[in-house]
Amino acid sequence: MSSDLESSEMTFAAEWMKEFAAAMTAGDARAAVAVMEVDSHWRDLLAFTWHLYTVSGREKIERAWERTLPDLQPRDFQISAVNPPRRVVRAGLDIIEVDFAFETEVGECSGVARIREDASGAMRAWTLMTNLEEIRGHEEHVGARRPRGEEYSRSFGGPNWLDRREAAVRYADHEPEVLVIGGGQCGLAVAARLGQIDVDTLIIERNERIGDNWRNRYHSLTLHNQTWVNHLPYLPFPETFPVYIPKDKLANWFELYAEAMELNVWTGTEFLGGSFDEDAGRWNVTVRTEDVVRTLHPAHIVMAAGVSGRATQPDMPGLNEFEGSVTHAANFTSGAAYQGRNVVVFGTGNSGHDLAQELHASGANVTMVQRGSITVSNVEPSQVIYSIYGEGLSTAIADRLVLASPYDAIVLGFQELTRWLQEPNQELIDGLNQIGMLTDDGHDQTGFQMKYMRRGGGYYLNVGCSELLINGDVELIHRGDIERIASQGIQMHDGTVVDADDLMFAIGYENQSEMVRGLFGDAVADRVGKIWGWDEGGEVANMWKRTSQPNLYFHAGSLAQGRILSKHIALLIKARQLGMIEAGVPERPDVAERALTAAD
Ligand SMILES: Cc1cc2nc3c(=O)[nH]c(=O)nc-3n(C[C@H](O)[C@H](O)[C@H](O)COP(=O)(O)OP(=O)(O)OC[C@H]3O[C@@H](n4cnc5c(N)ncnc54)[C@H](O)[C@@H]3O)c2cc1C
Repeated sequence: MSSDLESSEMTFAAEWMKEFAAAMTAGDARAAVAVMEVDSHWRDLLAFTWHLYTVSGREKIERAWERTLPDLQPRDFQISAVNPPRRVVRAGLDIIEVDFAFETEVGECSGVARIREDASGAMRAWTLMTNLEEIRGHEEHVGARRPRGEEYSRSFGGPNWLDRREAAVRYADHEPEVLVIGGGQCGLAVAARLGQIDVDTLIIERNERIGDNWRNRYHSLTLHNQTWVNHLPYLPFPETFPVYIPKDKLANWFELYAEAMELNVWTGTEFLGGSFDEDAGRWNVTVRTEDVVRTLHPAHIVMAAGVSGRATQPDMPGLNEFEGSVTHAANFTSGAAYQGRNVVVFGTGNSGHDLAQELHASGANVTMVQRGSITVSNVEPSQVIYSIYGEGLSTAIADRLVLASPYDAIVLGFQELTRWLQEPNQELIDGLNQIGMLTDDGHDQTGFQMKYMRRGGGYYLNVGCSELLINGDVELIHRGDIERIASQGIQMHDGTVVDADDLMFAIGYENQSEMVRGLFGDAVADRVGKIWGWDEGGEVANMWKRTSQPNLYFHAGSLAQGRILSKHIALLIKARQLGMIEAGVPERPDVAERALTAAD
């Protein structure tokens, strides 16, 4: 890029920032929105609203700022010197991206504006994101603020570091402030974040070892996205790690992470349920380790028990009469025992395909059953979705740029990605369609990633099973052509029978709200409502923010989501602990009048 171009970007960005910063600092909402496009979007992550909100349209943004600027007094706006304004293409649009920092009465914040020339020739923001980074006086103990360790290194004869760690994790004489249910990547990440801001946190995990949730997955599994996208907070994967991390290596890293980050973990411990004592502002919960049931009284609970709830149970005519084995994908660990057997796999999402491939590699004769159409992409080109992480930026900056996309920009971005993927995937899709596999580009051409966000499945990132199907090494039949399950196979409408010794069901999981109902009862489940999928404000429903149930939070998702959004839950809990905010969902500064589609 020429220095002329660079300097013009800097000039545009500096002028935009000068106007925006002056208006914000003066508390003048009317003047501040003058730098926003009429149809712009403002996404706030705790900086102004203590919530995850997206407000669309200049007038609504102005109303929201009128209500929030007086208390927060934003000031000291500085364009990032490390990541200076750049001309980039986001969601197919040519824009200048302005990464900046500012302060409020609460603490240090960051922001990203995506500005472009509007119809009148003025530079205005199409999207703006504001994000709380730290609460003043309660910053993370990292870098120059790392602990000095004097409490255990200078008192000879007193408890040393190990004594203190053992007492901390026993909870014999104190209660955890936060109980995290689940020691997967999200539980580990949020506990690490909370530890850095001095919030006493206990993770309980029903598996025997941290990492078992990955160890117990099928034999051949490696991560589907690249190592540099997947770091946990504070402790990135070593540069020697492979691009796609194998599941057992990841599992062992999780165990090491829990130890290195000094997380308090009870493994082999199941969360049985709990109720919230409104007067005490604490939960009464029961947990079981082996045969010992213990009661705990944490102030906050973070459910990090997985994106999905219980495995969906198969319900097909004749299933009771089947004489072979019936297994849910959640319980499948290896194909080794299936050599030479006829196995029918129901479900054509990622799990169904990976299972079929593993079974085939183990010498089984595999038939897959498709019910509805799926989105398919070869795994390598699909990685372009994480291209921000390949732009040479630090993980922290890349994370901020990812957060900078509100719902409408995400939709446009995924549509652009879907168009881009057409060419590298065309041959694959043609081959699949020729053998009768039903494929699609997602509800509104938003492709696989939006299917993940909306329903947690319905797509396959091809690592070789598509070729097995196209070559006829794995057979494909359709659910609609099946009459019933017979004692030794699948009875088709046309009278033929597909032989089966074993049935595998990779048909997904129930929504988390059913798990909440089971653990906390109907009142809490009904109060919280839908979990995951999009809410009416264009944010993921009830994830990473205050819910209608006081002191109950939900964290789940990919490794990247685990890393990025754990910070927001930790900050919210700290702010509650400090008495800075109330329980429950804050009143929206704007009621979004957006028309989300049925698929949302
Ligand atoms: C085949 C496959 C491949 C995937 N590939 C990728 C990938 O490449 N990249 C990526 O980012 N994501 C990938 N994912 C998706 C995602 O990362 C995982 O689903 C991930 O495990 C979610 O992490 P989590 O911490 O939200 O939940 P989980 O990993 O499901 O962890 C939840 C934990 O909670 C525990 N738990 C649940 N209930 C209780 C209870 N009552 N008491 C105590 N403990 C409890 C469970 O034992 C479990 O250990 C993949 C998923 C699958 C299935």
